[in-house]
Amino acid sequence: MDFKFSAELDEVRRRTRQFLDANWPKDRRAYAMNDMIARDLPGLERNSANVTPEEVREFYRKLGDAGILGIGFPEAYGGSGGGHLARYVVQSELCAAGAPYPNVGLTMVAPIFMTVGSPDFLAKNLPPLMAGEVEYCVGYTEPSAGTDLASLVTRAERDGNHFLINGQKIFSSTAHYADYYFLAARTDPSAPKHKGISLFLLDMKHPGIMVMPLVANSGVRTNIVFLDNVRVPASCLLGNENEGWKYLTEALAFERYASMASTPLVVGYNALALDPGLAEMPENSAALARLRAEVRASDLLSLNAAWTAEDGRPPIVEAAAAKVAVSETRLALGRAALEMLGPNSLLTEFNEQAPAGGQFDLMYRHSVINLFTAGANDVQRDTIATAGQHLPRSRKSSAKPTDQGQR
Ligand SMILES: Cc1cc2nc3c(=O)[nH]c(=O)nc-3n(C[C@H](O)[C@H](O)[C@H](O)COP(=O)(O)OP(=O)(O)OC[C@H]3O[C@@H](n4cnc5c(N)ncnc54)[C@H](O)[C@@H]3O)c2cc1C
Repeated sequence: MDFKFSAELDEVRRRTRQFLDANWPKDRRAYAMNDMIARDLPGLERNSANVTPEEVREFYRKLGDAGILGIGFPEAYGGSGGGHLARYVVQSELCAAGAPYPNVGLTMVAPIFMTVGSPDFLAKNLPPLMAGEVEYCVGYTEPSAGTDLASLVTRAERDGNHFLINGQKIFSSTAHYADYYFLAARTDPSAPKHKGISLFLLDMKHPGIMVMPLVANSGVRTNIVFLDNVRVPASCLLGNENEGWKYLTEALAFERYASMASTPLVVGYNALALDPGLAEMPENSAALARLRAEVRASDLLSLNAAWTAEDGRPPIVEAAAAKVAVSETRLALGRAALEMLGPNSLLTEFNEQAPAGGQFDLMYRHSVINLFTAGANDVQRDTIATAGQHLPRSRKSSAKPTDQGQR
């Protein structure tokens, strides 16, 4: 089996690294083990990379100008060509350098645009995204609809050529600085729960949208969003009315593997294994060897999901396997690091005495979140078993795995 990257993919990697050398200072690379640049945290003036929201936007524009954000998207819509693997390479390189990536827009929203957007819609909405000029947030989750996403109750009621939207979303990350809100809402309450959902694209400045902060245990800010009589033109509907669930299930598979590319397992592993003080202690050898194997396996499973997508197949099972492997290896890596580094490892990134810049504590706290975001691991295991291995379902149901109303 040949695991080598093609010459084209090597060129994408070289180009991305060259861009990073010129535009992302080395002193920010300590940030590499965290995958979210915390911006605008209440009461917190800086993050560990000392990057302001304006600097992140500016960095995205430079990435856009250099044609790097557009890698993996068609040239007709402002992209730079190339496929899923090329995009995966870009994302992994940015992440390994501790640089931000507009993950929500490019891995969660753009794939749905590509599936359902008309040529006019794509011509209007993709180029600004490829240019790094706009950011998106996603409003799927609600207080009583997380894993069981199809239970969402936010209502979009048709009113002639408009929709009137009312409801509450939770965990809408990046909503406090995004330009657009990609929203799932119920358009037909009388239909079975996964048949009455539609997707909308809203301008965040629209009257009636209110954003409140919610800080996760890792210190990353996410948001609660209230939608109070938000009246939008019917042109904000994306794809066919009531067919949102169909679009979402496929897009979630892309999100699942792509978001895992933002998890720099190799960087974290090297920080442990290349530290002579840690690596030379015999009691650490077994743990490091086991982690080495898990990091490599996770990497290959992620690449397999990207390759499946490149091959034109929705990577439902492959993405589920990659997501479980990467998130659980990340947790194991964080836990092992805390054990090896001892009590000092609990010092945060804001304490100068913290080993490895406090990144392992951050990694550990954030890795717990990865176990359920982008689809809870328990549900992913179900998908691997039923859709991948054709094992019988654990509960009596005739529904197919992607029809269950679960992420
Ligand atoms: C930091 C952060 C950022 C986020 N960003 C976004 C965002 O930008 N947009 C967005 O829409 N959402 C976002 N989310 C929401 C995230 O996708 C949900 O938290 C996730 O879908 C789980 O939903 P829940 O929190 O309601 O947990 P629940 O659905 O209550 O699940 C809790 C646990 O119960 C178990 N479980 C639940 N159902 C099953 C089942 N059927 N089988 C087996 N076990 C099960 C699993 O162990 C699961 O982890 C974010 C969340 C966090 C924490």
